[in-house]
Amino acid sequence: MEPDLTPISLQESFCFSCSPDVPCFNECCRDLNQFLTPYDILRLKNHLGLSSGNFLRQYTSLHIGPESGLPIVTLKPKDPHKLICPFVTDTGCRVYENRPSSCRTYPLMRAVSRSRSTGELTAHYVVLREPHCLGFEKGRTQSPRQWTDEQGLAVYNENNDKLMKIISLKNRLIRGALDHESGRRFHAALYDLDNFRSQIQHTDLLANFRLNSRIMDAALRDDVALLDLAIQWVERNLLNPEQSKRKAEIL
Ligand code: SF4
Ligand code: SF4
Repeated sequence: MEPDLTPISLQESFCFSCSPDVPCFNECCRDLNQFLTPYDILRLKNHLGLSSGNFLRQYTSLHIGPESGLPIVTLKPKDPHKLICPFVTDTGCRVYENRPSSCRTYPLMRAVSRSRSTGELTAHYVVLREPHCLGFEKGRTQSPRQWTDEQGLAVYNENNDKLMKIISLKNRLIRGALDHESGRRFHAALYDLDNFRSQIQHTDLLANFRLNSRIMDAALRDDVALLDLAIQWVERNLLNPEQSKRKAEIL
């Protein structure tokens, strides 16, 4: 049976509950098709006490969007012949507190559109009903707004949505796919944050930024501030070559 996708507004309700008592417990973690955002990786690598480089090598696969040339990072199953998540255990998810955004959002899926005129983002939701998932049978009634609040998604959505700005900038300024080297540097800056931190400390990577010391200190201390800086670096250096020739104003 094919999955069923039903659009739903933020205020409408859907019926769903999930707990270790459902007969399908962990089934959804055994059919891995998991995209990871830079913020997902930031949370997971810190949860596991790994550097971003080690996390990427151990747990992810890198693909390149054929039309955009942008990197797409997915979670790598433990066994390439089975699609089981490397973090699932008999008692549930071993990274539950820092599980990726798509796991938190399920059984909803979220897409975001950006207004060309105002830059404003609008979120759209669908309910994904898959045959193996029995959580709809005796579910609790809630709206997508309540679900996303309960799943702690606000901080994930806020950080994931920052990427929308650079994706739309890329679509506006670069026709066709990003070249291979820029795609590699895009991946290195946004997904391998610990390496980006080391680069800004020990190389002239930020030579065309006039950095305020408060921003630099925050980026060296805090991964979210570092991700914000990495996004600005990608915008200037990879997507907007004209701007990158001039020194940036204080950030
Ligand atoms: S990260 Fe956790 S919740 Fe997500 S698929 Fe893996 S085990 Fe399941
Ligand atoms: S109810 Fe759905 S989401 Fe919950 S464990 Fe079962 S398959 Fe996974």
